[in-house]
Amino acid sequence: MAVLQIRVVPDPVLRRKARPVKVIDEAVRRLACDMIETMQAAPGVGLAANQVGVLLRVVTLQMPDEDPFVMINPVITHREGTRTVEEGCLSVPGYVGSIERSVLVRARFIDERSGKHRVEARELLAQAIEHEIDHLNGILYLDHLKSHEDLRQTVAAHEHEDVDFSKPPDLGVAGADGLAVQAGAMGVPSSTTGTPG
Ligand SMILES: [Zn+2]
Repeated sequence: MAVLQIRVVPDPVLRRKARPVKVIDEAVRRLACDMIETMQAAPGVGLAANQVGVLLRVVTLQMPDEDPFVMINPVITHREGTRTVEEGCLSVPGYVGSIERSVLVRARFIDERSGKHRVEARELLAQAIEHEIDHLNGILYLDHLKSHEDLRQTVAAHEHEDVDFSKPPDLGVAGADGLAVQAGAMGVPSSTTGTPG
């Protein structure tokens, strides 16, 4: 296992669409293990492969006080309700923004041992699933902001010397590979305790 470097904006890999995993082999399992270690070291509640520079549809998630798990080729099959959440991203250090997410999502995915799963998620897990699947499609939470006033710096911003905080972050070019960026999403209440990847 290894802690991988987390890509930050405006790294173009964050704006690319990840490819489905065709074969779940040792390389994919190693990537998933490394992503879990990277997510835990950050720390974050989720991480998408784009964030470590790999364009495969692999996501890792870990809710507070729960075990981590891997979602390969995840697909959201149902969204319900909207709530406003304060969201951050490991790839956008030093900022949080208020956006809308779904209250409930249902998703299907494959695990690292090729097992098929369906999950019904609420609140933070629903938010994290939407956030990470957005990453796989080259979308950042910044794309869901209704205005720049909904984005603010956090105290931690000053720890990131490599980022110029005198101006808003460079959002990169959305949908670089022809993906239409969907404005606004669903929603959820403002009780986020973790940082989605
Ligand atoms: Zn993120």
